[in-house]
Amino acid sequence: MVDCKSSVIVIGGGVVGVSTFYQLSRLGLSPVLLDASHDLAAGTSFANGGLLTPSMPEPWNGPGVGGHLFSSLFDAKSPMKVRLWSLPSMVPWGLRFLKHSSRRRHQYAVVANFKLAHRSACITHDVVREHGMGCDMRASGTIKTFSSTNAMHAALQNAEALNKLGLEYEPLSAQGAIGLEPELAAIQGRVSGAIYYKEDSVGDARKFTHALSDIAVRFGGTIQKATRVNNIEVRQGAVVGVATAEGFLEATDVIVAAGNASPSLVRPHGVRIHMKPAKGYSITLSMKNWTSRPKIPVIDDEMHAAVTPIGDRLRIAGTAEFVGNNLKLDTRRVENLHGVFANVYPRLASQSDRADSLAWTGLRPMSADGLPYVGPAGPRGLWVNTGHGHLGWTMAMGSAEMMASMLMGETPEVNPAPYRVAR
Ligand SMILES: Cc1cc2nc3c(=O)[nH]c(=O)nc-3n(C[C@H](O)[C@H](O)[C@H](O)COP(=O)(O)OP(=O)(O)OC[C@H]3O[C@@H](n4cnc5c(N)ncnc54)[C@H](O)[C@@H]3O)c2cc1C
Repeated sequence: MVDCKSSVIVIGGGVVGVSTFYQLSRLGLSPVLLDASHDLAAGTSFANGGLLTPSMPEPWNGPGVGGHLFSSLFDAKSPMKVRLWSLPSMVPWGLRFLKHSSRRRHQYAVVANFKLAHRSACITHDVVREHGMGCDMRASGTIKTFSSTNAMHAALQNAEALNKLGLEYEPLSAQGAIGLEPELAAIQGRVSGAIYYKEDSVGDARKFTHALSDIAVRFGGTIQKATRVNNIEVRQGAVVGVATAEGFLEATDVIVAAGNASPSLVRPHGVRIHMKPAKGYSITLSMKNWTSRPKIPVIDDEMHAAVTPIGDRLRIAGTAEFVGNNLKLDTRRVENLHGVFANVYPRLASQSDRADSLAWTGLRPMSADGLPYVGPAGPRGLWVNTGHGHLGWTMAMGSAEMMASMLMGETPEVNPAPYRVAR
């Protein structure tokens, strides 16, 4: 437990690290946030799908994932893809990923993710409201569309199970979905049904991260950008600080929230985090000159992609490739997202100017069992908050609150057991 003599360092200035930094600043701990980049939210939190979706707690290794991944080797358009050459480096993580795809383990992770995401979304809304943050946040709900009745039936069963824990949802006919989002009229014939998740929302994770960091600084936190942590120093079983290119910084507690770089920072201290980067893409278009605009984020179940209005921009995000720490923009993947846009909103896509769209790629920090790592790890004073996969923006404030409670020796609102680091 920290006290007034403690000095706390947070490593990582993405949405997870900054949310943690905020929660600690708010408690008067005057933490220091270090980030290797020249700007905050320059990594995976830069241009993600913008969705706060407790409705999507399912890890991506659902039952049957092994077959999907195998067939993806031969399908260039598969939403989740493994490349042949990346297979050898995937082996230990991949085996865990498959092990956790059993129905029982998968269901365990779904429930744990939902509890954290649900709590997190509530806190995020409270913080945005309390501080009047400008991050294009809107309680829009999301619409998930289905072309297969079997897929919709399975999604309804999942939603029914989570309803007992607080998930609100409404099954819709194609006509009902168009009633909520009139721009969907163009694909009426292709949609067999939809589900509206009322409590989902949308916002700009990057703007949120920036605004939250400013508030944390007002609460007494300090930010050092362009400061890469080379290693965490431990003496006699306790953290003493971090070594950076700029010199040594003392600390009694170090929280590692460095996304995909987290495993290598904690491994020298005997802490194993089983994570791999899952590469995704987004394209962003300006809607400023559009005469009509979609209002509600739409998730296309078949294409595993989301089309999200964020302020006056439309973002299309999706795809997952396991290709290591590779941030090269693959034009075929960008093209796939333009295809998603044309499928969901053919009229808008035909009117929009592709040259004006901004393509981006990021690496989701994905744990093998689909749950984030939150809590103490190894030596005294070492903590981890990472591995949120496709739900980093959704879960950031919840896992930050959990981390702050544990650091203060208090009982977190959400039971932290499923997310413990040594599991
Ligand atoms: C295409 C796509 C769409 C997505 N859509 C959604 C969505 O709609 N909703 C949702 O909830 N989530 C979404 N996600 C997931 C979400 O974006 C991530 O889970 C989240 O951004 C991870 O945040 P992070 O802070 O853990 O990591 P990052 O944002 O990557 O931040 C890690 C930070 O650590 C810093 N760092 C690394 N090493 C060091 C070091 N040694 N020293 C100092 N600093 C270091 C980096 O510079 C970086 O700033 C999406 C992801 C992708 C790729």
